[in-house]
Amino acid sequence: MQVVKIGGSILKNKEDLILIKQKLMDCHNCIIVTSALKNVTNMLIEAYETGNTGIIENIYNMHITIINVSEEIKELLKKFRDELKFLVSLDKTVSLRDRVISYGERMATVLIYNFLKDNGFNISYIIEPLIVTDSVFGNATYIEEKTSDKIKNTVFGDLTIVPGFYGSTEDEQITTVGRGGSDYTAMIFASILNCNVRIITDVPGIMTSDPRLFSYSKTLPEVSLSEVLKMSHFGVKNFNYKTFTPVIDMDIEITVESLYEDGLTRITRKPVKSVKCVALTSYGSTGNKNLLVFIGHGISDPAVSENILSVIGHEHLYHMDSLSLSLLLDEDLVNNKKCFQEASLWIK
Ligand code: ASP
Ligand code: MG
Repeated sequence: MQVVKIGGSILKNKEDLILIKQKLMDCHNCIIVTSALKNVTNMLIEAYETGNTGIIENIYNMHITIINVSEEIKELLKKFRDELKFLVSLDKTVSLRDRVISYGERMATVLIYNFLKDNGFNISYIIEPLIVTDSVFGNATYIEEKTSDKIKNTVFGDLTIVPGFYGSTEDEQITTVGRGGSDYTAMIFASILNCNVRIITDVPGIMTSDPRLFSYSKTLPEVSLSEVLKMSHFGVKNFNYKTFTPVIDMDIEITVESLYEDGLTRITRKPVKSVKCVALTSYGSTGNKNLLVFIGHGISDPAVSENILSVIGHEHLYHMDSLSLSLLLDEDLVNNKKCFQEASLWIK
């Protein structure tokens, strides 16, 4: 068994689906976890907030024009569209919001199913939520035992596509697990089925930093599970902070690879000492401060931390532990240019 997660910004057009098809060519005994098509979750949030059914029509059109959908799937997409139009006309509640925004993953699931089926794949889909969660709408956490029972009682085909991001409470109300949550869904499946996971995304793995902010960014061939847990806490690669929590105790192989280019990151159990990455995240109740965070085993080694602090300034030290060193910087990032240059040198 294997879990493959596809999602987000790599689901834009037919060309992307063709590349996904090539990636999945040799997959057997595999569960594909998908997120919504690019931007659809944001559109659904807007539709929920404004009650604007035009947005829902746009989402529907987006799905039926990306490929030639079969009559059966078109009917299903129409049904989703009509349900959505009804839902956004209701009084707003947190649980209604989750119901509305779960439709992005439903629609993507049946669309990709349709495409792969037409291309000869022996594929089935499941849109009933298999993840059982608490009732923290918008940021639900899975309940391990209940989810395990449900998944283990489900019959999967050779290739089954399922939606990420949403689940349901024990009394069957739809919940979502937080933005970017379909990676978390993939990890939940992998932990319960005790199998490997491939995350297919738009960048070649986890990088040493955000290439838009720092020079010298490159793919990390290997990071440890504890490092990636720390990284997701600071939003590296936009990982939701809960993403890797289901697999903390698991000895499985997790890789992060790009749909478009070579290069991949392997997430292992080996704690190799070095500074792996530097992240920048806004901080404070108003988000007007910035934390510059160095992450890696060995960061607290005085030879490393002292070096960084002596260059950037001890007065900026905010927090240090065995995996991370956080520096609190001014709100005005222009003033921090020197820090950025220095930080880049550590991940060169
Ligand atoms: N579609 C959801 C979101 O945009 C979940 C995900 O992309 O993983 O947050
Ligand atoms: Mg995503």
